[in-house]
Amino acid sequence: MFAESLRDISPLARAEREPLQDRCGIVAAFCEEDTPFFITGLAGLYQLQTRGYDGAGFHCVTAAGQTFQCKGEGMISDVFNTDTVARYRDIKASMWLYETRYGTQGATKVENVQPIVTQHRLTGETFAVIHNGQFSDEDGLSGGEVSDTRIFANQLAESTEASWNERILNMQKKKNGAWSTIIATPEGLYLMRDRYGVRPLGYGKKKDAISNRDIWIAASETSALKAMGVSLSFEVLPDSVIKISKRGIEKLRKPNGIVTAQAACIFENIYIGDGRSAIHSPRTTDLEINTSPEIDEFRKRCGVILAKEAPLSGADVDVAIGIPGTGIAGGRSYAEALGIPYLQAITDRNPQDNPRTFMNPDINDIGRQVLGHFYLHKNFLQGLRVVIIDDSIVRANITGGVIKLFKEEFGVKGTHVRVLCPPIDKSCYLGVNTRKDSELAAARHRGNIEGIRQEIGADSLAFLSDKGLLEAAGQSDGFCLGCMINHYPPLDRRGNIIYERD
Ligand code: SF4
Repeated sequence: MFAESLRDISPLARAEREPLQDRCGIVAAFCEEDTPFFITGLAGLYQLQTRGYDGAGFHCVTAAGQTFQCKGEGMISDVFNTDTVARYRDIKASMWLYETRYGTQGATKVENVQPIVTQHRLTGETFAVIHNGQFSDEDGLSGGEVSDTRIFANQLAESTEASWNERILNMQKKKNGAWSTIIATPEGLYLMRDRYGVRPLGYGKKKDAISNRDIWIAASETSALKAMGVSLSFEVLPDSVIKISKRGIEKLRKPNGIVTAQAACIFENIYIGDGRSAIHSPRTTDLEINTSPEIDEFRKRCGVILAKEAPLSGADVDVAIGIPGTGIAGGRSYAEALGIPYLQAITDRNPQDNPRTFMNPDINDIGRQVLGHFYLHKNFLQGLRVVIIDDSIVRANITGGVIKLFKEEFGVKGTHVRVLCPPIDKSCYLGVNTRKDSELAAARHRGNIEGIRQEIGADSLAFLSDKGLLEAAGQSDGFCLGCMINHYPPLDRRGNIIYERD
């Protein structure tokens, strides 16, 4: 019943037929000797499930060059079900690549799920690529059925340099955009980031329990590294290329002027990242990632600052409710800062299965998704005045749907909304393709907060300021805030370089 009423208030949701595009999570490992790493890698990948659920895949190579792979569409547990796990769990190999995909470019089909495995045209050597983010649209790397990762792999396959080092260094230099990429070649594992560090990538090592040798492990986020047993992490610094082989770690390309030149995506911390991961921020050394605050700490700070910028009191509301899961840390701290009781009246039914409701490709299904995904504690809410705290408002259909449900079916007497980031009124072309500008609530209302408030039916609405957001991050420079305040330095909205900041 609610599904129908939600569709009624959300003509935008009816009109949205394209997938809401997002980003990927990647994991890789290198060991000098073949070792059974499959389950460990899967544990890391599960930690990154929220980064995409179009599909998942893995590829591994033994020291003798034998390869195994498996990939498919859907959630990680769909692809790596009981049968596939049983098939691969005991395989021993020396290089491992995993991906959970939400494609920013290319159709949602199994051919575009990574790792992309192909052969070098001149040498015939097999190599595999995983990639998080988006290459810029130069060189025809946009649109169409084929993913930018596959086009990248094809270009690398055609490269004519004599060694893998040279081929990969040249590709890293040539490619604009916002990406972290890992390539498994016969010469070793290569980790590299775009020159401005828009997307994250870290690595570390642990001892292999069987061989007692080091296993080097890389992942999009530190929470995944921790899940795989890495205690000390290193960041692959922006604009760098790292090679891991039997010779150990080689830093093939070191960055210059990294602090001012960085453009770390701040939305990674608002919405994308696991709360237990280190904040994604500009850093000067690769070890700083170990002393950086966790993303949940950043989200809490956002709540405290929002409480100063847009306070409510007991005279306005009875309880505060954080929207699961990325609105909870900030929701709690907002409530605590203002002395408002906090009530988790909306909970995830199963956060592991579908933690990002509004990313579901079938936008028309979103009303059912809200009901199916969230558990709403109706009995607690009758007659209360509530403040809902959410991480962001993108298209506003979920927020509007929840408010309608609260008021019309749960007997809630007042609904205020506080948002833990500034209004998002521009599309992202840097690996988090939120939606077209015209579909974003803040863009449709030309930044008029009152217009958004009326659309969602809230009694009041306020957003965290960009200044407050940067204060929460603890650094005022080195972030991309393009989708919020049109600040994409030093890239344009297509990921091409506007100017060098060194
Ligand atoms: Fe991140 Fe927004 Fe910048 Fe895209 S435009 S990289 S989502 S901050």
